[in-house]
Amino acid sequence: MTEQKITMANGHLKVPDNPTIPFIQGDGIGPEIWKAAKIVFDAAVSKAYDGRRQINWLPLLAGEAAYQKTGQWLPDETLQSLKDYLVGIKGPLTTPIGVGHRSINVTLRQKLDLYACFRPVTYYPGTPSPVVHPENVNIDVFRENTEDIYAGIEADVNTAEAEEWKQLLKKQGKLDKVRFPDTAAFGIKPISKQGSTRLVKAALDYAFANHKHVLTLVHKGNIMKKTEGSFKTWGYELAESYGDQVFTWHQYNQIKDQKGTAEADAAYKAAKDAGKLIVNDVITDNFFQQALLYPEHFQVVATMNLNGDYISDALAAQVGGIGIAPGGNINYETGHAIFEATHGTAPQFAGQNKLNPTSIILSGTMMFDYLGWSEVAKLIRTGITTAIESHHVTVDFAKTPDATVLSTTGFGEYVADLIGKG
Ligand code: NAD
Repeated sequence: MTEQKITMANGHLKVPDNPTIPFIQGDGIGPEIWKAAKIVFDAAVSKAYDGRRQINWLPLLAGEAAYQKTGQWLPDETLQSLKDYLVGIKGPLTTPIGVGHRSINVTLRQKLDLYACFRPVTYYPGTPSPVVHPENVNIDVFRENTEDIYAGIEADVNTAEAEEWKQLLKKQGKLDKVRFPDTAAFGIKPISKQGSTRLVKAALDYAFANHKHVLTLVHKGNIMKKTEGSFKTWGYELAESYGDQVFTWHQYNQIKDQKGTAEADAAYKAAKDAGKLIVNDVITDNFFQQALLYPEHFQVVATMNLNGDYISDALAAQVGGIGIAPGGNINYETGHAIFEATHGTAPQFAGQNKLNPTSIILSGTMMFDYLGWSEVAKLIRTGITTAIESHHVTVDFAKTPDATVLSTTGFGEYVADLIGKG
């Protein structure tokens, strides 16, 4: 197959009929889930286009496999290929805690400036869930991916660096805010206007394109006033720059302060009746509570890196766990994107061909939608829905007596078969 590259021109992706798409299998259960996913992807592309379109999959090394072969966790060629080919997909990669190399996932997001982590959380009927009404969860999370404490600026306890930071705090009269300065490690949390607004813009654009009614800014601005509080302020400023298309909670509060609650309520009702996008905000801890009690109140969420990490896993649990939650890391300006399983490497299950490949398969549907190959995405979603509804599932979803337990690759083959017959 001749090599064809996906490119970006005038803000639009140009996708050839036989695009080369790099993939990283990943560590732990990565190779197994990737194998299952590839079977499904190829079956769906073939069904949708009957040979007119095909993916040229390009394997890339990263993680443990890369380290064993090259001595590098993330070889330069891998990074270069992801830059060159624009769109890729990956399995999970190991990150040691407290010691060792930095997270490859975080490095990839930062090197390619993949600022928006998009995680749609939705329920597939038949999936075992710990909540009574998982079908009420239909929340698209946009998590800022390049800032926050993920910047990795930390100073270890009892180091010259920590000492310098303490001196600076002393100079600024803030050292007494550190409860135990002698044994403190430090971290820095950068939250910028550019970083925040480009993320909120991605969420707003998505909300408009998909006819959503409400977008929620999630933050802990009551405590972190200058960082998370500013995220909220900038988010509202940007939303209000869309003019008549939106009504924000900031505007509601302004009306309330000037004219009273009745007028503010009337303005809110008028905005809703006019089909405007309602932009509101909620404090992070309250969000967790509300999303569990009233998930139907939320549609699109825009938040910072750490909040987004917690929130997307918690919401995923409501619809059946991280085995089914997909994700994509995207830069909407350059077009660079890496779609990925949101769970980790589950090392204790590696090699058993047992766990669920649905997360990476659904990440693939996001990738196909991103490429404009929505026929493929739709076929895969239908296949997954049919398999789960008929209880043909991997062990983690086999909670009913009539379940047919399939292996990781067995599930991929089953879904591919359904797609082929569909
Ligand atoms: P994990 O997601 O690997 O596993 C936690 C548990 O979730 C597993 O024990 C298993 O019960 C369940 N689980 C995970 N994947 C599943 C699947 N596909 N189907 C069914 N159940 C599944 O999280 P962890 O144990 O905290 O992390 C292990 C390693 O993975 C660490 O090195 C961590 O840094 C890494 N990690 C990588 C990514 C990534 O590459 N995006 C994300 C998270 C964690």
